[in-house]
Amino acid sequence: MNILVINCGSSSLKYQLLNMNDESVLASGLVERIGIEGSQLKHEKTGMDKEVIKVAMKDHKEALGHVLDALTHEKYGAIKDLKEVDAVGHRVVHAGEKYSSSVKITDDVIKALEECIELAPLHNPPNLMGIEAMNELLPNVPSVGVFDTAFHQTMPASSYIYALPYELYEKHGVRRYGFHGTSHRYVSQQAAEMLGKDIKDLKIITCHLGNGASVAAIKDGKVLHTSMGFTPLEGLIMGTRCGDIDPAIVTYVMNKEGLDLKAMDNLLNKKSGVLGISGISSDFRDIEGAAADGNERAKLALEAFDNKVTRYIGGYAALMGGVDVIVFTAGLGENSIGNRKSICSSLGFMGVEIDDERNNVRGKDTIVSTDGSKVKVLVVPTNEELMIARDTLELVK
Ligand code: ADP
Repeated sequence: MNILVINCGSSSLKYQLLNMNDESVLASGLVERIGIEGSQLKHEKTGMDKEVIKVAMKDHKEALGHVLDALTHEKYGAIKDLKEVDAVGHRVVHAGEKYSSSVKITDDVIKALEECIELAPLHNPPNLMGIEAMNELLPNVPSVGVFDTAFHQTMPASSYIYALPYELYEKHGVRRYGFHGTSHRYVSQQAAEMLGKDIKDLKIITCHLGNGASVAAIKDGKVLHTSMGFTPLEGLIMGTRCGDIDPAIVTYVMNKEGLDLKAMDNLLNKKSGVLGISGISSDFRDIEGAAADGNERAKLALEAFDNKVTRYIGGYAALMGGVDVIVFTAGLGENSIGNRKSICSSLGFMGVEIDDERNNVRGKDTIVSTDGSKVKVLVVPTNEELMIARDTLELVK
């Protein structure tokens, strides 16, 4: 069975075609600049060189049309006929409180996701455009929605409620939702498998450290708390996002700097994080380079980042009554040897011990703690596409 996984952004989309008999990737690609001059499709059939197809694409439907053409192209296609696509899995950012797991897409599901647009105004509209375009292009192929928020829906009310007037939750849905759920779910399951344990017997802390970053506390296979909140702005220090700050700073800075709502929103989301502290870059590689060259603000950004991750891990261990496994994933978590080392060094008091030789690894499933370490530390490259394809298979087979 072949499953096409689609992840639509506002002006870009990513796709992967997987053969679920062996979970192999047949082809993958990225469309950029949808609706903007200079749009192009980068398509890669597994084992072949990348094809760059430059063609005007005015909307997501046109873009997906070109994706389907590429998938069936006689030279670089991965299938002969679109009949070989058995199901489509869509990544959707926000499903509010409505769905706690993936679902087959129906008109009712589309309506429910439209109701969540207010909660994710940048993400849900392109996700929905992708769903509607695929329904038109492949009307007889079943499709499934896999939601970033779903895995976190098991959080108890004490974890998701904010200390604001309760009516704001009732009237406007102001609560913690959490994001990166598909990634946290994939890496926690993979970690349990690598350790040969049932996930229900483990207390796991998953650290998704990329440009966007979040931590989750997972006990009995269920999320107890996660660091992102009502939006993906809360929690850790990120590439350009501030994470947790004193909320009083918002009105204070707006007043002092004469910023309106939009400018303040932009400052918190785009100009803060490690970029804001260092003044150098949002990319951790640049910051690690500058810190190694002695740049004090780059060093400060890295220390502040590690400080926050460490506090979350410590707090989550307390919340779960201990921790058996810490998992590092996403761009920084999978690749930054120094960052993992520095975070884990602060956790020695809880029985975390990194093996330097094992930790000298990038982007590969690996146990990086010592044999004697009380808490196992794992690097698990995330694979949201595979998780989406697995859910899709489960729901359509
Ligand atoms: P997102 O999907 O949120 O855009 P990724 O998970 O792709 O982010 O992570 C991107 C970030 O990972 C980059 O900004 C970079 O800071 C970091 N990163 C990638 N490779 C390395 C590396 N070798 N060393 C340190 N940081 C890295």
